[in-house]
Amino acid sequence: MKKKTAIILALLLTACLFFSGCSDPHPSGESARIKVVTSFYPVYIAALNLVDGVDGVELQNLTQPTTGCLHDYQLTPQDLIAMEGADVLAINGAGMEDFLSKVLESYPSVTLITASDGIELLEEEHDHEGHDHEAEDHDHGEEGNPHVWVSITNYMQYVQNIADGLSRADPQNEAIYQINAQKYKAKLSDLKTKMHGAIDPLPNRGIVTFHEAFGYFAEEFGLHVEAVIEREPGTDPTVQELTETIDKVEESGCRALFAEPQYEPRLAQTISAETGAKVYTLDPCVSGAYEKDAYLKAMEENLNQLVEALGQ
Ligand SMILES: [Zn+2]
Repeated sequence: MKKKTAIILALLLTACLFFSGCSDPHPSGESARIKVVTSFYPVYIAALNLVDGVDGVELQNLTQPTTGCLHDYQLTPQDLIAMEGADVLAINGAGMEDFLSKVLESYPSVTLITASDGIELLEEEHDHEGHDHEAEDHDHGEEGNPHVWVSITNYMQYVQNIADGLSRADPQNEAIYQINAQKYKAKLSDLKTKMHGAIDPLPNRGIVTFHEAFGYFAEEFGLHVEAVIEREPGTDPTVQELTETIDKVEESGCRALFAEPQYEPRLAQTISAETGAKVYTLDPCVSGAYEKDAYLKAMEENLNQLVEALGQ
Protein backbone atom coordinates (compact mmCIF):
# COMPACT_ATOMS: atom_id res chain seq x y z
CA MET A 1 0.00 0.00 0.00
CA LYS A 2 2.78 2.40 1.01
CA LYS A 3 4.83 1.36 -2.01
CA LYS A 4 1.89 2.11 -4.25
CA THR A 5 1.48 5.56 -2.73
CA ALA A 6 5.18 6.24 -3.22
CA ILE A 7 4.97 5.24 -6.88
CA ILE A 8 1.94 7.45 -7.45
CA LEU A 9 3.69 10.36 -5.74
CA ALA A 10 6.78 9.83 -7.89
CA LEU A 11 4.63 9.81 -11.03
CA LEU A 12 2.85 12.97 -9.97
CA LEU A 13 6.15 14.67 -9.25
CA THR A 14 7.46 13.68 -12.69
CA ALA A 15 4.27 14.99 -14.28
CA CYS A 16 4.74 18.28 -12.45
CA LEU A 17 8.32 18.56 -13.73
CA PHE A 18 7.19 18.04 -17.30
CA PHE A 19 4.21 20.34 -17.29
CA SER A 20 5.37 23.79 -16.36
CA GLY A 21 2.69 25.81 -14.62
CA CYS A 22 1.44 22.78 -12.74
CA SER A 23 0.71 24.13 -9.30
CA ASP A 24 1.04 21.76 -6.40
CA PRO A 25 -0.87 22.82 -3.28
CA HIS A 26 1.40 20.58 -1.18
CA PRO A 27 4.93 21.40 -2.29
CA SER A 28 6.42 19.22 0.41
CA GLY A 29 9.57 18.57 -1.64
CA GLU A 30 10.64 22.17 -2.02
CA SER A 31 11.03 24.38 1.00
CA ALA A 32 7.90 26.45 1.41
CA ARG A 33 8.22 30.03 2.63
CA ILE A 34 5.20 29.68 4.87
CA LYS A 35 3.30 26.62 6.06
CA VAL A 36 -0.41 26.99 6.73
CA VAL A 37 -2.25 24.20 8.51
CA THR A 38 -6.05 24.05 8.76
CA SER A 39 -7.93 22.03 11.36
CA PHE A 40 -10.60 20.45 9.16
CA TYR A 41 -12.39 20.42 5.83
CA PRO A 42 -14.41 23.69 5.65
CA VAL A 43 -11.45 25.74 6.89
CA TYR A 44 -9.20 23.99 4.36
CA ILE A 45 -11.55 24.73 1.44
CA ALA A 46 -11.72 28.42 2.41
CA ALA A 47 -7.92 28.61 2.70
CA LEU A 48 -7.46 26.78 -0.62
CA ASN A 49 -9.35 29.61 -2.33
CA LEU A 50 -7.34 32.26 -0.49
CA VAL A 51 -3.81 30.98 -1.18
CA ASP A 52 -4.46 30.63 -4.92
CA GLY A 53 -1.59 32.27 -6.80
CA VAL A 54 0.47 33.02 -3.69
CA ASP A 55 4.03 31.71 -4.10
CA GLY A 56 5.69 29.57 -1.49
CA VAL A 57 2.67 28.64 0.58
CA GLU A 58 2.34 25.07 1.74
CA LEU A 59 -1.26 24.37 2.71
CA GLN A 60 -2.04 21.24 4.67
CA ASN A 61 -5.12 19.96 6.44
CA LEU A 62 -4.52 18.53 9.90
CA THR A 63 -7.23 15.87 9.73
CA GLN A 64 -8.18 13.53 6.90
CA PRO A 65 -10.67 14.90 4.33
CA THR A 66 -13.10 12.17 5.42
CA THR A 67 -13.00 13.03 9.13
CA GLY A 68 -16.12 15.19 9.27
CA CYS A 69 -16.91 17.37 12.28
CA LEU A 70 -14.30 17.32 15.02
CA HIS A 71 -16.63 16.67 17.97
CA ASP A 72 -14.88 14.13 20.20
CA TYR A 73 -11.95 13.99 17.78
CA GLN A 74 -8.70 12.41 18.98
CA LEU A 75 -5.46 13.60 17.39
CA THR A 76 -3.41 10.95 15.59
CA PRO A 77 0.41 10.87 15.38
CA GLN A 78 -0.01 11.70 11.68
CA ASP A 79 -1.89 14.89 12.57
CA LEU A 80 1.02 15.95 14.74
CA ILE A 81 3.44 15.41 11.85
CA ALA A 82 1.33 17.90 9.88
CA MET A 83 1.90 20.46 12.65
CA GLU A 84 5.69 20.22 12.29
CA GLY A 85 7.04 23.44 10.84
CA ALA A 86 3.62 25.10 10.80
CA ASP A 87 3.69 28.91 10.80
CA VAL A 88 -0.06 29.42 10.77
CA LEU A 89 -2.91 27.30 12.11
CA ALA A 90 -6.42 28.18 10.96
CA ILE A 91 -9.26 26.72 12.99
CA ASN A 92 -13.04 26.99 13.14
CA GLY A 93 -13.15 27.89 16.84
CA ALA A 94 -16.43 28.06 18.81
CA GLY A 95 -15.42 24.90 20.64
CA MET A 96 -14.95 22.70 17.56
CA GLU A 97 -11.23 22.11 18.23
CA ASP A 98 -11.17 21.73 21.99
CA PHE A 99 -8.75 18.83 21.54
CA LEU A 100 -6.13 21.25 20.19
CA SER A 101 -5.80 23.56 23.18
CA LYS A 102 -3.16 21.41 24.90
CA VAL A 103 -1.31 20.68 21.65
CA LEU A 104 -1.01 24.38 20.87
CA GLU A 105 1.05 24.92 24.02
CA SER A 106 3.80 22.97 22.24
CA TYR A 107 3.74 25.40 19.29
CA PRO A 108 4.00 28.84 20.89
CA SER A 109 5.21 30.56 17.70
CA VAL A 110 2.32 29.42 15.51
CA THR A 111 -0.03 32.21 14.42
CA LEU A 112 -3.58 31.15 15.22
CA ILE A 113 -6.48 32.22 12.98
CA THR A 114 -9.98 31.64 14.33
CA ALA A 115 -12.38 31.64 11.38
CA SER A 116 -15.54 32.06 13.46
CA ASP A 117 -14.29 35.26 15.16
CA GLY A 118 -17.03 37.88 15.45
CA ILE A 119 -19.82 35.53 14.31
CA GLU A 120 -22.73 35.47 16.71
CA LEU A 121 -23.22 31.92 17.95
CA LEU A 122 -26.56 30.18 18.22
CA GLU A 123 -27.24 28.25 21.36
CA GLU A 124 -26.96 24.50 20.98
CA GLU A 125 -30.35 22.86 21.04
CA HIS A 126 -30.95 20.42 23.82
CA ASP A 127 -33.41 18.01 22.32
CA HIS A 128 -32.26 15.13 24.44
CA GLU A 129 -31.72 16.98 27.67
CA GLY A 130 -31.58 14.84 30.74
CA HIS A 131 -30.28 11.83 28.86
CA ASP A 132 -26.77 10.62 28.19
CA HIS A 133 -25.76 13.72 26.24
CA GLU A 134 -25.09 15.70 29.39
CA ALA A 135 -21.45 14.65 29.61
CA GLU A 136 -20.99 15.46 25.94
CA ASP A 137 -22.49 18.93 26.36
CA HIS A 138 -19.97 19.51 29.07
CA ASP A 139 -17.09 18.38 26.85
CA HIS A 140 -18.08 20.80 24.12
CA GLY A 141 -18.02 23.75 26.46
CA GLU A 142 -20.64 26.46 26.74
CA GLU A 143 -19.68 28.32 23.59
CA GLY A 144 -22.72 27.54 21.43
CA ASN A 145 -23.34 25.77 18.15
CA PRO A 146 -19.98 25.57 16.32
CA HIS A 147 -21.37 24.86 12.80
CA VAL A 148 -21.22 28.50 11.71
CA TRP A 149 -19.88 27.87 8.18
CA VAL A 150 -23.09 26.14 7.06
CA SER A 151 -24.70 29.60 6.68
CA ILE A 152 -23.33 31.30 3.56
CA THR A 153 -23.40 34.73 5.25
CA ASN A 154 -21.32 33.40 8.13
CA TYR A 155 -19.00 31.57 5.75
CA MET A 156 -18.30 34.85 3.93
CA GLN A 157 -17.20 36.34 7.26
CA TYR A 158 -15.21 33.15 7.93
CA VAL A 159 -13.37 33.53 4.59
CA GLN A 160 -12.63 37.20 5.37
CA ASN A 161 -11.29 36.32 8.83
CA ILE A 162 -8.94 33.74 7.34
CA ALA A 163 -7.84 36.22 4.62
CA ASP A 164 -7.11 38.85 7.30
CA GLY A 165 -5.16 36.33 9.37
CA LEU A 166 -3.10 35.24 6.36
CA SER A 167 -2.46 38.89 5.50
CA ARG A 168 -1.08 39.48 8.99
CA ALA A 169 1.08 36.35 8.90
CA ASP A 170 2.33 36.96 5.35
CA PRO A 171 2.01 40.74 4.75
CA GLN A 172 3.95 40.74 1.46
CA ASN A 173 1.03 38.88 -0.13
CA GLU A 174 -1.79 40.77 1.56
CA ALA A 175 -3.08 42.14 -1.76
CA ILE A 176 -3.47 38.64 -3.23
CA TYR A 177 -5.19 37.24 -0.14
CA GLN A 178 -7.63 40.15 -0.12
CA ILE A 179 -8.36 39.95 -3.86
CA ASN A 180 -8.92 36.20 -3.55
CA ALA A 181 -11.28 36.83 -0.62
CA GLN A 182 -13.26 39.37 -2.66
CA LYS A 183 -13.51 37.01 -5.65
CA TYR A 184 -14.60 34.04 -3.54
CA LYS A 185 -17.07 36.10 -1.51
CA ALA A 186 -18.61 37.42 -4.74
CA LYS A 187 -19.28 33.83 -5.85
CA LEU A 188 -20.75 33.02 -2.43
CA SER A 189 -22.93 36.11 -2.52
CA ASP A 190 -24.28 35.18 -5.98
CA LEU A 191 -25.03 31.67 -4.71
CA LYS A 192 -26.84 33.05 -1.67
CA THR A 193 -29.02 35.27 -3.87
CA LYS A 194 -29.81 32.32 -6.13
CA MET A 195 -30.69 30.13 -3.12
CA HIS A 196 -32.97 32.78 -1.61
CA GLY A 197 -34.70 33.11 -4.97
CA ALA A 198 -35.45 29.39 -5.03
CA ILE A 199 -36.01 28.66 -1.32
CA ASP A 200 -37.98 31.74 -0.19
CA PRO A 201 -41.12 30.86 -2.18
CA LEU A 202 -41.20 27.18 -1.11
CA PRO A 203 -44.51 26.36 0.58
CA ASN A 204 -43.09 24.07 3.29
CA ARG A 205 -40.51 25.32 5.80
CA GLY A 206 -40.07 22.38 8.18
CA ILE A 207 -37.00 20.15 8.13
CA VAL A 208 -35.83 17.31 10.36
CA THR A 209 -32.07 16.81 10.49
CA PHE A 210 -29.70 14.24 11.96
CA HIS A 211 -26.87 16.39 13.28
CA GLU A 212 -26.98 19.83 14.76
CA ALA A 213 -25.19 21.28 11.74
CA PHE A 214 -28.07 23.14 10.10
CA GLY A 215 -29.11 25.71 12.71
CA TYR A 216 -27.37 28.61 10.96
CA PHE A 217 -28.42 27.41 7.52
CA ALA A 218 -32.08 27.20 8.62
CA GLU A 219 -31.89 30.67 10.13
CA GLU A 220 -30.44 32.08 6.92
CA PHE A 221 -33.19 30.68 4.72
CA GLY A 222 -36.14 30.96 7.10
CA LEU A 223 -36.48 27.20 7.52
CA HIS A 224 -37.67 25.62 10.72
CA VAL A 225 -35.73 22.73 12.23
CA GLU A 226 -38.57 20.66 13.71
CA ALA A 227 -36.24 18.12 15.26
CA VAL A 228 -32.57 17.14 15.39
CA ILE A 229 -32.45 13.40 15.78
CA GLU A 230 -28.81 12.71 16.58
CA ARG A 231 -27.20 15.78 18.02
CA GLU A 232 -23.87 14.48 16.84
CA PRO A 233 -23.06 11.50 14.62
CA GLY A 234 -22.69 8.29 16.54
CA THR A 235 -24.90 9.37 19.43
CA ASP A 236 -27.88 7.11 18.82
CA PRO A 237 -31.13 8.22 20.43
CA THR A 238 -32.71 5.99 23.05
CA VAL A 239 -35.91 4.11 22.20
CA GLN A 240 -37.89 6.72 24.13
CA GLU A 241 -36.21 9.58 22.24
CA LEU A 242 -36.88 7.81 18.96
CA THR A 243 -40.58 7.43 19.85
CA GLU A 244 -40.77 11.10 20.82
CA THR A 245 -39.09 12.08 17.56
CA ILE A 246 -41.52 10.01 15.52
CA ASP A 247 -44.42 11.71 17.35
CA LYS A 248 -42.84 15.11 16.74
CA VAL A 249 -42.38 14.45 13.02
CA GLU A 250 -46.01 13.29 12.74
CA GLU A 251 -47.35 16.27 14.71
CA SER A 252 -45.33 18.79 12.69
CA GLY A 253 -46.66 17.36 9.45
CA CYS A 254 -43.05 17.51 8.22
CA ARG A 255 -42.72 15.42 5.05
CA ALA A 256 -38.95 15.64 4.66
CA LEU A 257 -36.09 14.10 6.65
CA PHE A 258 -32.58 15.28 5.84
CA ALA A 259 -29.78 12.81 6.34
CA GLU A 260 -26.16 13.76 5.72
CA PRO A 261 -23.98 12.14 3.07
CA GLN A 262 -21.25 11.58 5.69
CA TYR A 263 -23.32 9.29 7.89
CA GLU A 264 -25.33 6.11 7.64
CA PRO A 265 -28.96 6.65 6.62
CA ARG A 266 -30.21 3.80 8.84
CA LEU A 267 -31.89 5.99 11.45
CA ALA A 268 -33.46 8.22 8.80
CA GLN A 269 -34.86 5.14 7.08
CA THR A 270 -36.39 3.87 10.34
CA ILE A 271 -38.15 7.18 10.97
CA SER A 272 -39.17 7.38 7.32
CA ALA A 273 -40.76 3.93 7.54
CA GLU A 274 -42.68 4.94 10.67
CA THR A 275 -43.85 8.37 9.53
CA GLY A 276 -43.98 8.20 5.74
CA ALA A 277 -41.72 11.27 5.54
CA LYS A 278 -39.20 10.97 2.70
CA VAL A 279 -35.42 10.93 3.17
CA TYR A 280 -33.35 13.61 1.41
CA THR A 281 -29.73 14.72 1.82
CA LEU A 282 -28.20 17.91 3.16
CA ASP A 283 -24.44 18.27 3.10
CA PRO A 284 -22.87 20.39 5.86
CA CYS A 285 -19.62 20.42 3.86
CA VAL A 286 -17.49 18.72 6.52
CA SER A 287 -15.82 16.25 4.18
CA GLY A 288 -15.20 15.70 0.50
CA ALA A 289 -12.72 16.38 -2.27
CA TYR A 290 -9.90 18.86 -1.78
CA GLU A 291 -11.10 21.25 -4.47
CA LYS A 292 -11.74 24.96 -4.47
CA ASP A 293 -15.40 24.81 -5.47
CA ALA A 294 -16.35 22.05 -3.01
CA TYR A 295 -18.41 24.34 -0.74
CA LEU A 296 -20.20 25.97 -3.68
CA LYS A 297 -21.02 22.54 -5.16
CA ALA A 298 -22.28 21.16 -1.83
CA MET A 299 -24.62 24.16 -1.41
CA GLU A 300 -25.90 23.85 -5.00
CA GLU A 301 -26.80 20.24 -4.27
CA ASN A 302 -28.43 21.25 -0.97
CA LEU A 303 -30.53 23.70 -2.94
CA ASN A 304 -31.67 20.97 -5.34
CA GLN A 305 -32.61 18.71 -2.45
CA LEU A 306 -34.55 21.44 -0.62
CA VAL A 307 -36.50 22.46 -3.72
CA GLU A 308 -37.42 18.85 -4.35
CA ALA A 309 -38.33 18.16 -0.72
CA LEU A 310 -40.17 21.35 0.22
CA GLY A 311 -41.65 22.27 -3.13
CA GLN A 312 -44.78 20.21 -2.76
ZN1 LIG B 1 -20.96 18.70 13.83
